[in-house]
Amino acid sequence: MRYLILSDLHSNMTALDTVLKAAEGRWDKAVCLGDLVGYGPDPNEVVDRVRELSTATIRGNHDKAVSGVADAEEFNPIARAAVLWTRERLRPENLEYLQKLPKGPQSVDGFSIVHGAVFDEDEYVFSPALALDGLLASPTPVTFFGHTHLQGGFSLRGEQPDVLHFRPAAGQPFSTLTIEPGTTYLLNPGSIGQARDGDVRAGFAIADLEKQTVEFWRIPYDVEAVQQRMTQAGLPEPLILRLSFGR
Ligand code: ZN
Repeated sequence: MRYLILSDLHSNMTALDTVLKAAEGRWDKAVCLGDLVGYGPDPNEVVDRVRELSTATIRGNHDKAVSGVADAEEFNPIARAAVLWTRERLRPENLEYLQKLPKGPQSVDGFSIVHGAVFDEDEYVFSPALALDGLLASPTPVTFFGHTHLQGGFSLRGEQPDVLHFRPAAGQPFSTLTIEPGTTYLLNPGSIGQARDGDVRAGFAIADLEKQTVEFWRIPYDVEAVQQRMTQAGLPEPLILRLSFGR
């Protein structure tokens, strides 16, 4: 079974469409690690499309804030402005869908999915030290996580966690990780809608764990088209500009 792994879509329909075209015919089922909405201009379109894909989907911190499951007090003022903008525009059935999304971690077909950390869905796993507890406790050898918007992850064999970086070579849309038996992995597919690792392309992954492979993809999309819609929508300027830099 080949799984399409989507995360941090952030209301960016142009990026999601481009990713789905690039991945066409290469996957059987999809999972979504949360943050369907927030920041971008297309909340209903993205939620509609994720619902059509009938993915196993867990909630992210933006999904919780937009749908009122959590308050947006901990968000910075710019992110909070986007939360309020999104809440006003989501159709009631899409708001309800976000409200009812389950919390991670969840088990899917021999692997796990979580938005942030294994023990705290809202925690950012930036470092091997932060990854260690999750690597030790994860019920499956492979766990996919999101939230940091940084494609890559961590592995553990023995006692010392390693940092994994993936950056497809020039002209290559993806790089492939081979899953080694006896090693535990926390893997981040990257963000569809708002990359933060200096690479403006949309990130996602395709996992075929029967074949012990995970492909880490980066696909260019029409960033300017998204920025134009954000400008028309009156979304905050810093959110528009950061898409140009992947920061
Ligand atoms: Zn996010």
